[in-house]
Amino acid sequence: MRVKPFGATGPALPTIGQGTWDMPEAGARRREAQQAIRRGIELGMTHLDTAEMYGAGGVEEMLGEAIAVIPRERIFITSKVLPSNASYAGTIAACERTLRRLRLSELDCYLLHWPSEEPLEETMRALRALVDAGKTRFVGVSNFDAQEMLEAQRLLGDVPLACNQVLYHLRERGIEHRLLPAARAAGIAIVAYTPFGRGRFPRDAARPDGVLGRIARKHAATPRQVMLAFLTRDDALFAIPKASSEAHVAENAAAGDLVLDAEDLAAIDAAFPIGDDGPLATL
Ligand code: NAP
Repeated sequence: MRVKPFGATGPALPTIGQGTWDMPEAGARRREAQQAIRRGIELGMTHLDTAEMYGAGGVEEMLGEAIAVIPRERIFITSKVLPSNASYAGTIAACERTLRRLRLSELDCYLLHWPSEEPLEETMRALRALVDAGKTRFVGVSNFDAQEMLEAQRLLGDVPLACNQVLYHLRERGIEHRLLPAARAAGIAIVAYTPFGRGRFPRDAARPDGVLGRIARKHAATPRQVMLAFLTRDDALFAIPKASSEAHVAENAAAGDLVLDAEDLAAIDAAFPIGDDGPLATL
């Protein structure tokens, strides 16, 4: 698994981590999901992403139980405060609840989930206070455009904004216009969520004779691994696919060792152009 610095001041993290949105919280499938998470950690996907929103706290509880047996220093845990809780006091209280559910004394990274109606200054002041109090090592944002992201960094002062977690997949490359260059220049990591595109998965391209299928065969890889390798090709880029079975986790983890060549990158770029419209084009 390749690792690279997470922002200008963060630790080296695996290019591929693990998302947890929609993970099963109950019954036999909960245990299967927990095993998948632990298998992913064994395979190097030690960056785990969750949020208070997921299952209204249930996913944090499921994850907390799954990682209770893992040495704390082996894993990097990110969670997120809901915008509706993002006042100064609300952010502090939400973080405490998240820590309890995760059975942790300190998070590795705490993000504002998306822009809030609460003043950004208040949320950033709370994130600073949480760093000072040892409740989280790093802080970040999610779903912020370039301007909002740089404003968050300004408000944080000398506390670095570690990351901005955003939608990024082959059919949604709008962040490459402004957000990715701005993040790179500012030393802020970009974490790609929904890397397989959910309902927009490129089925035709993933067939054996499609562009992803052909590149996959050349590298003895799979089309999903090719997708993840493309999305993490830049030093600033990380991805957090979500998988709830050990087989899916193993496939995703192996993408962390796949490096595409210039010809592969050009072929994918031509098949999935960045485009100048779409919801993220102005980010
Ligand atoms: P995703 O990771 O692109 O796709 C997840 C889907 O792909 C699941 O149905 C999963 O099935 C399937 N899958 C995963 N690996 C597979 C494999 N190797 N082969 C076949 N199918 C595979 O989408 P996502 O869950 O939307 O995004 C990933 C994570 O990003 C989330 O879990 C969450 O942590 C984060 N996220 C953040 C935000 C935000 O606003 N910040 C928004 C959305 C998501 P199985 O579960 O059956 O394995």
